[in-house]
Amino acid sequence: MISQIYDILFEKYNNIVTSWWPIISKNPNDKIFEIIAGVILTQNTNWNNAKKAIENLKDNNLLNIEKINNIEINKLELIIRPAGFYRAKAIYLKNITDFFIFNPFEKFNKIKTNDARKLLLKTKGIGFESADSILLYAFGKPIFVIDAYTKRISERLNLANNYEYNNLQKIFEENIKRDAKIYKQYHGLIVEHCKKYCRKKPICSRCILKEICFFSYSADIK
Ligand code: SF4
Repeated sequence: MISQIYDILFEKYNNIVTSWWPIISKNPNDKIFEIIAGVILTQNTNWNNAKKAIENLKDNNLLNIEKINNIEINKLELIIRPAGFYRAKAIYLKNITDFFIFNPFEKFNKIKTNDARKLLLKTKGIGFESADSILLYAFGKPIFVIDAYTKRISERLNLANNYEYNNLQKIFEENIKRDAKIYKQYHGLIVEHCKKYCRKKPICSRCILKEICFFSYSADIK
C-alpha cells in the first residue's frame, strides 16, 4: 500500500513538487548548514516563519557554522525571532554548531547512518524528526522522515498498528526502495497532499486516495 500511495501521489504532483528544501547559500558547507539551521528553525512552526528567520540570518551574513557559534546569544535570538520559540531555538542552534565543530561535515558524513543518528540525538534540541531531516536533507542519507503530515495521513490511511515514530519510519523504509532521492520525493509529495487535501479538516471528496483510505469511509466528513 505504501508504494501504491507513492505512485498515486507521484503521478499527481511530480511536476509541481520539485525541490522541497529551498536553499539560499552558494558555498557547499554553508548550504549544509543552512539546511541544519532550517531544521531547527522550523520546529513547532510553519515553513514561512522559519524562512523569515533564515533570510534574517542570510541578511546578517550568519548562515555559517562558525559565525553562529561565535555570535552572542541575545543577538541571535533577535535575528531568529520570526521563527518563534526563539530563545530555545537560539540555544539549539548554538548546540548544533558545537556538535558540528566537534564533528566536521566531512568526518560526520563518513559515520554509519545509525551511529550518526544516535550521535545527533544526544544533542539537546534534536529529536527524531530533526535528526532524520538533517541526515536526509543535509547529508543525503537514506532515512525516512516522519513529520506531523506523514503521521496524520498514515493514521487516516490505516498504515500501521502503532504510530510511534520509529515504528512508522520502519514501515515506510521496509516498503519503498532505500534511496534518499525517493525518500525526499515521497516526503515532499505527502506534504503537498496534506496541505491541499488531507488537512486537519480533510477534503476527502476531492482526494485521489479516497478509494483506498480507511478514514474517508469511517467518518462522515464528505
Ligand atoms: S481520503 Fe481524506 S483522510 Fe483519506 S487521505 Fe484523502 S483527504 Fe486524507
